Amino acid sequence: MILTDMHVHSHFSSDSKELPEAIIETAIDKGFSYVYFTDHHDMNFPVNENEPEMDFQLDFDTYIKKLLELRENYRDRIEVQLGVEQGICPETAPRIAALSNQYPFDFIIGSSHLTALKNGDPYYPEYYSGKTNIEAYREYFMSEVENVKLTDGFDVYGHLDYAVRYCPDAAFEYNFKDYQDILEVLLKLIIENGKGIEINTAGITKIGYPHPHIETLKLYKDLGGEIITIGSDAHKKEDIGYGFDVAEELLKSVGFRYYTVFKERKPEFMKLN
Ligand SMILES: [Zn+2]
Ligand SMILES: [Zn+2]
Repeated sequence: MILTDMHVHSHFSSDSKELPEAIIETAIDKGFSYVYFTDHHDMNFPVNENEPEMDFQLDFDTYIKKLLELRENYRDRIEVQLGVEQGICPETAPRIAALSNQYPFDFIIGSSHLTALKNGDPYYPEYYSGKTNIEAYREYFMSEVENVKLTDGFDVYGHLDYAVRYCPDAAFEYNFKDYQDILEVLLKLIIENGKGIEINTAGITKIGYPHPHIETLKLYKDLGGEIITIGSDAHKKEDIGYGFDVAEELLKSVGFRYYTVFKERKPEFMKLN
C-alpha cells in the first residue's frame, strides 16, 4: 500500500480552507507514514476581479514556521514534510529556482496552471478561443517544455495534462496520439534533467482517470523514467489518499516496481508490494 500523500493543500493555499492540523490527524488515522504539505505559490498570478482572494501567493516565512512547529509537535506520530507547488509559466520560470533554494523544502512540485500570464489559463473558456482544442492542448504541453528548459527549481512536474480537465467542449475526446511528439520531448527533458512526474489522483473525479493519461505514463516508462510520486491534490482532509489503490494498480500495470518519496529534495525509492 502507498502510505505517502505527496500533494496536499491547506488554508495556506488560496483555494483551500483546511487546517494543517486536521490534515495531519486524518493522515495519521489513515495509517500514513508521511504527510507532505504542497501549498500553492503562483508567481505573478493574474488575479480575476471576480475572485480577488484567489491570488495564489504564499507567505513563505509564516508557512515554513508553521510546518516546522507541526513537524516537532507530531514527530512521534507522523513525519511532516515541507513542500510547495510552484506554479510555473515561461515568464516566471527563470525565477523559480532561486526561490526554491531559499527555504528548507523536502519536495517541490512544479505545475503549469498557466501557459502565459495573460490569457494563458486553461481554466477559463477564453483560453480556447481562436484555436482548435488540439491546438489549445498542444500549446499547453509546449509551455511545459519551455518551463523545463527554463528552470530546475522543482523535483517532479505536477498533473502533466491538467489542461484536459477544463476543455469547454464536453464532447471533445483527448487522444494521446495528437500530442505524442511534444510529450516525448517533454518527458525526455524531464528525465535528462533528473526530475520526475507525479500521478495525480484528483484526475479521477475530474476526467475519469489520474493525471497523466496511461499512454503518457507508458511513454515515460519506455523512455527510462523512474521518479514518480503519488499525490491526491487534496484541498480538504477527506480527499487525502483518494484513489491510491487505483494509482498503485496503474503503476504496476505499466511496469513500475517502485514509487518515490523525497526528503531534503532527494528521491528515495519505495517498493510496490
Ligand atoms: Zn496544481
Ligand atoms: Zn495542487
